[in-house]
Formats: sequence, structure tokens, C-alpha cells
Amino acid sequence: MRPKNCKAGSDCAIKVTLLRSLAATLIATAMAILAYEVYGKFHPGLFYQVSVTLLIAMIVAPIFLYPSIRSAKQLADANEIIAKQASTDYMTHLPNLKALSEKLDEVIADTYANGQFAVHFLDINRFKQVNDTLGHDVGNQLITSVGTRIKNWVGEDGYVARFGGDEFVVIQMNVSDEQGAATFGRDLRVHLAHRYELLEHHINVTTSVGTALYPIHGRTKQTLLKAADLALYKAKERTNANCVFDPSYSNEASNRARIENTLRTCVRSGELQPYFQSIVDAQDPLKILGFEALARIELPNGELLSPDDFIPIAENTGLIVDIGAHMLREACFACAEWHPNLFVSVNVSPVQLIRSDFITTVQNALIDSGLPAYRLELEMTETALIDEIELVRQSLQRIRAMGVQISLDDFGSGYCGLHYLRQIEVDKIKIDKSIIDEAEDFAIARNILNGLGLLAQQMDLTLVAEGVDDIRKADHLARGGKVQQLQGYLFSTPVNRQIAKQMQEALPQNSYRDNVVPLPIKAN
Ligand code: C2E
Ligand code: CA
Ligand code: CA
Repeated sequence: MRPKNCKAGSDCAIKVTLLRSLAATLIATAMAILAYEVYGKFHPGLFYQVSVTLLIAMIVAPIFLYPSIRSAKQLADANEIIAKQASTDYMTHLPNLKALSEKLDEVIADTYANGQFAVHFLDINRFKQVNDTLGHDVGNQLITSVGTRIKNWVGEDGYVARFGGDEFVVIQMNVSDEQGAATFGRDLRVHLAHRYELLEHHINVTTSVGTALYPIHGRTKQTLLKAADLALYKAKERTNANCVFDPSYSNEASNRARIENTLRTCVRSGELQPYFQSIVDAQDPLKILGFEALARIELPNGELLSPDDFIPIAENTGLIVDIGAHMLREACFACAEWHPNLFVSVNVSPVQLIRSDFITTVQNALIDSGLPAYRLELEMTETALIDEIELVRQSLQRIRAMGVQISLDDFGSGYCGLHYLRQIEVDKIKIDKSIIDEAEDFAIARNILNGLGLLAQQMDLTLVAEGVDDIRKADHLARGGKVQQLQGYLFSTPVNRQIAKQMQEALPQNSYRDNVVPLPIKAN
């Protein structure tokens, strides 16, 4: 019999085996002595035989036992390695989720009576972009480097585990108050916000941290991690920040669930509608060239839900596929009512782009509305293009071949606009509001704008400035001569379909005369 918790191959099992063989030898010796006492005096030959047999058995036994002891030892070592591996993240060599879960049980048990500790949930901002544009090797190296930096920073007394992907969890012991935890989170972020030299790439990385305290924000590991995760979500909203959990965040999470329900109903009931914002000629801002369709949900109480509130939820739940198809259709039908020189521009999400039925959705919207393909533009963001770049590239190529224009949205707000331009053929670049806002006062933004102007000229692209909300910016852009089209509150806020129709009807007919409507591209 082995003790209950003495596993096969473990050190204790080896000891049991050796003790057993020792006991067997002792019993055999005792029996030999007994045999000698009883029979040896009468049968000396028999005693001699028993003694020799025993001697041989004692010499031979270890030789036979050795391999099994050695393999038992190897098994024991392997078991130890497997146990360690089961608790260690293979890439960073930090404790993994399983180990974190056990550690939290342990820390909660130790802190149960009094004291508090903090759980910090950390992730790397825009990690996906780094991973997708510079490759998985660089992405993996970045995760490992961030993990090592956290480990070195928290030291021997601290605890850090890789939660999964680019997420880490740090446990901070003996926290005096929320302020202490917040300072820890902030200092950790500052420490990590340095340049990383990875496989010949220099990357500046920022992180976000969400913090929850035991016991005030949660008494179990699940509630604590959930609270820290909600705080991280909040930190991300604030962009590159750290944030301590507040009970109102749980309400926000249920708000998101409410919006999700509202969304489902709205898609079915048609309360989701495109609004339209005019895009005008930079040299003659009274001349409307087209409209961008922007999604709005009209609630029964007249309130309008903004896309920033529901598009991310729609993307996460997959509802964006229905929303996107509805927007595309409605926008095409609206545009078909306008002057034939005007275009409509529709935002598409990465989730739509990688679907095999996306091309058919576009074709059906065009055929059903009767809108010529060259009057439709599809806008996608840099982030949209990173995911599944090859799939997206092929899909866009076929759509372009139909004559639909492709526009790169929010250009300059992400990391890798130029990287995409090398891979995806586009017709238009929409320069992000942040660059437009700074162009007047900051030389860097001005230089970017000038550089883009040259690039657009060489690549035969149209440049659009977004978010133009004051006359000085419009004037400055028009005088620069690099940007052909302007869009912003200065000219019009997004308006409903009826008003958009009236806006374009109110234009003097001759203002359409030389609108530059792109010629259809011949299919390959
Ligand atoms: P976006 O495509 O960059 O759209 C421009 C956003 O800037 C719009 O916000 C517009 O109302 C706002 N804007 C326009 N001019 C100005 C200005 O002069 N100043 C300021 N401060 N803002 C201006 P909106 O309508 O809230 O849309 C936000 C984002 O939601 C859009 O950004 C787009 O990324 C996304 N979105 C909107 N509709 C759809 C849709 O149908 N599908 C998808 N996938 N995304 C959509
Ligand atoms: Ca857009
Ligand atoms: Ca934009």
C-alpha cells in the first residue's frame, strides 16, 4: 500500500519501493537465521544453499531494481516539470491563468480576516496593430518583454501572471488605500511606457491598467477579476490611462447589455437610419459633391443614439453585419434620389469585409436601388484593414473592379496608414480630424499634410479633410491646395434623409456642372 497522496513515480513512491526491498531482504535474512536455527544444525548443506541464494539475491536485486528506480526517478522529474509547465506560461515563463487562480485563492485565504490587496489588470494598447503589421514574432517578443519588465518592476515580493494574449494580472499586497493602488497602477504604466527594441524594430508602447481592491470591490477571485476588467475597459475608454474600479462601471456594463437589446430591436423595426453629412469642394465650399452616411438610432422618445455608443457593441456581437447591410442599402436608395453627379460614402466595418457574402451584399444594394457603382464609396479605417489583410485585399479588389470607390478613413490617427497604402489600392484618403486641427498651429501636422499632398498627387488619390469646424481651417486648407474635398460641422452636421435631399435640391443646378464624379474602373 502507498500513502494516499504518494503518486506513482514521485520521490515518496521511490522511498516506499526502497523500504519495501529493504524490508523484504530483512525478512529473508530473518527467515534464513530461523531456518538455520531449526534445520541448519541437522542439514548444514541446506543452510549453505539458502545462504548462497540469499547472497546472490541481495547482489542481483539492486541490479534489477536500478532501472526501475531510475525510470521512477525520471518519471518523478517529468511529473515535476509537467506540474510546473501546467502552471507556467510557455512564452513569458510567468505564472499562467491556472497559477493565478490558485494564487488568488491563497492570497484571499491569507487576507481573509483583515488587510487588503489589489488586483491590476493590464493590457498593451493597440497590440493587435503591432502584431498584425510587424508580424507575430515581434508581437510575441513584445509580450515577453512587457512581461519581463513587469516582473522586474514588481520584484520578488510582487506577483505577476500572464492572463492570456497581451493581458497580464499583477497582485499588489498590503495596500493601504485606493490611492496607493492607483499610484501603483500609474507607476507601472509609466515604467512600461518605454521604447522596446524588438527584432530590429523600435516600438513605443503604452499600456492600460484597471485596478480592483479586495475586499471592497470583490470578495471572490471572480468578482475581483471582473471588477478589474471593468476598470480596464474604462481605462481604455480614456485612452492610455489607469483606472480604479467604481461600482457605477457595473451599471455601464449593464447599459451596454441594454444597448445590445435595443440594437437588435432597432435593426428589426427600422429605427436604425443613415444620417447624411455633406462633403464639399475645397475650392468652392458651396458646392456639395456627395454625402457620408452615418448611422443613427432614433429612440421612441426622439433621442438619437450615436454610433460611438453602438457600433463597437454591434461589432462585438456580430450585429454589425445586419446593420452594415441595412446602412448600405438605405444609403444607395437615398443617393439614387439625388442629383446624378453626387456620390454617397458608406462606412464598413472589418467584420463585414472579411465575410464571403460582402460582395453580394454590395451588388444587391446597387442593383435594387439602381445606383451606378461609381456613385458609391466605401470607407474603411486603417484598423479595419489590418485584420485578415489578404482576404480584405481580394474582396476590395473585386469591389473596385465593379467601379465602387474605396476610401481610407481616419488616416493619420493610427500607426500604419502608409503600410496599408502599399498593400491596398484606394481612391481616396480621409485625413483625420486630429491632423486637420493641428495643421494651422503645428509644423509637424503641416508637414504631414504637405507630405500627404505629394503622395496623393503621385498616387492619383483624392484627399479629404474631415472635421473641418471653423472657417480659418477651411481657408487654410483651401489655400494649401493639397486637399480637394472638405467635410465638417462648418458646412453641415449630419442630417436625416429628407433634409439631405432638400439640401442638394436647393443647390443651383450649375453647381453640379463640373462635379468630379469618378469614371467607372474597368473590370479586370
Ligand atoms: P467617422 O467615419 O470618422 O465619421 C465622422 C464623425 O465625425 C461623425 O461622427 C461626424 O458626425 C463627426 N464629425 C463630422 N464633422 C465634424 C466636425 O466638424 N467636428 C467634430 N467634432 N466632429 C465631426 P458620428 O456620426 O458620431 O460617427 C462616429 C463614427 O462611427 C464614424 O466616424 C464611423 O467610424 C462610425 N460609424 C458611423 N456610421 C457607421 C456605419 O454605418 N458603419 C460603421 N461600421 N461605422 C459607422
Ligand atoms: Ca467615415
Ligand atoms: Ca473619419
